Amino acid sequence: MPDTDQTALFRRRKSGIDCPMCPDMHTDSTVAELTSGKVHLQNDADYRGYCILIFRRHAVELGDLSAEERRQWIEDIAKIGTAITSICSPAKLNLSMLGNLCPHLHCHIMPRYVGDPEWVGAPAFRTPEQRTPLTEQEFTELQAALKTALV
Ligand SMILES: [Zn+2]
Repeated sequence: MPDTDQTALFRRRKSGIDCPMCPDMHTDSTVAELTSGKVHLQNDADYRGYCILIFRRHAVELGDLSAEERRQWIEDIAKIGTAITSICSPAKLNLSMLGNLCPHLHCHIMPRYVGDPEWVGAPAFRTPEQRTPLTEQEFTELQAALKTALV
């Protein structure tokens, strides 16, 4: 593979240099701080309750975690899923741990609703600019409900 700007950027980020998730700069979307990391609520009316759990320190792969950290990571993902399900009643929770753009361990906990815009045959990744936001009141109420559920 040629050493392009993109591969150089990826290598820096993977090593923790210029990592967009270190330090956490998205505190306005934080709804809870769990043992393994912070929970960020995304503002997307089509995927109400969509959260991202960001691991508490720079790590790239599950194999970088101790066995106890991995156990806690899965427990926290399950806890978030239970909270989203109790508040938003999605048809299904999809989990994704990607990282080619941002190689800092994080998990997308994506509630899917029958008939949502990408229900048939497509993942539901959108940039913030592509999302349909909740009203300010809806977002504030959802943040509060998730904060309460994740205490
Ligand atoms: Zn990082």
